[in-house]
Amino acid sequence: MFFKLQKTDGNARRGQITTARGTIETPAFMPIATQAAIKAGISPDDLNAAGAEIILGNTFHLHLRPGEDVVKHFGGIQEFCAWKKPMLTDSGGYQVFSLAKMRKISDNGVEFRSPIDGRKIFFSPEKVMQIEYDLGADIIMAFDECPPYPAEKRDVEKAVKRTTDWAKKCKSAHDALLKKAPLDQRLFGIIQGGVHPDLRKQSAEELCNLDFPGMAIGGLSVGEPNSFMYEICEFLDPILPKEKPRYLMGVGTPVDLLQSVERGIDMFDCVLPTRNGRHGNAFTSQGEVTMIRAKHARDDSPLDPECTCPTCTNYTRGYLRHLFKAGEILGMRLLAIHNIHFYLHLMRQIREAIENESFTAFKKEFLGRWKK
Ligand SMILES: [Zn+2]
Repeated sequence: MFFKLQKTDGNARRGQITTARGTIETPAFMPIATQAAIKAGISPDDLNAAGAEIILGNTFHLHLRPGEDVVKHFGGIQEFCAWKKPMLTDSGGYQVFSLAKMRKISDNGVEFRSPIDGRKIFFSPEKVMQIEYDLGADIIMAFDECPPYPAEKRDVEKAVKRTTDWAKKCKSAHDALLKKAPLDQRLFGIIQGGVHPDLRKQSAEELCNLDFPGMAIGGLSVGEPNSFMYEICEFLDPILPKEKPRYLMGVGTPVDLLQSVERGIDMFDCVLPTRNGRHGNAFTSQGEVTMIRAKHARDDSPLDPECTCPTCTNYTRGYLRHLFKAGEILGMRLLAIHNIHFYLHLMRQIREAIENESFTAFKKEFLGRWKK
């Protein structure tokens, strides 16, 4: 069985995803390895030490460089980057549609110019399936149209229609690839529809009919108020099948994770732990901390007294501040290690709270301590 729902607490769900490369306890957070590497110099050893069970690679970036043929030569993305556990690749839809001035969209796909060398590239649903198949991740995403926020409702409606058409094409192309040469790889559908409940419902129902093994919610966390994101998750919860994992793409802050788990989400990915770490910002049990502040200069306490990560075990706030002031790469690395550890520990606490049916109390206690 690919996904097993083990326990619920309100609408929060505790489950397990099983792939050939290992088990993923859910709710799960996936650190992002955009170019088959976690930014800030985080290695697979660091990820293992933090307890990561799955990471995400990016189809758009890996197609541009080094190319899926190179990754395939090494036996797939996991072998290529020496990460032995499960991986997920997103479809590149979000990145392609972010290239507003460099793309031409039709019902067949999107033509764009490579931001690296300017060459013309065409992404169709079939082409993206071939790329993701060659990259060889355990879970892959369908090619979707991700409209910006804000957008005219008629444009979002068009994107929903195109996303369903492309999801059908992705499914048959992927089925054909697996038939030709079997691979333990599962394709998820992506629900679009912006902030419009009627379009979200339409998109969810059309994609549910295609019977993907997992469902993703895309097109959120693109600039809309957070309350819209929570409302859409809450609205979709009863529409989505209980027995399949739900993945909220590109989300989010620790608060977003708690709010979305409460609304029935099982999987998340976000650049925040590494991006904030690179900029000297840490997530701690007491809220966010900016390392560059002068007040840390002679502070000999750890970054987060409640954290057991290597950064908090071995280094003082004063030293971390010095590394950022001096522009030393070690500072970015140490903060990213801590932030990833913090996110994965938060997910462990969330899972434990659901098991004990104390999720609401845990969320309240966490938010009470969390200072922006
Ligand atoms: Zn730490």
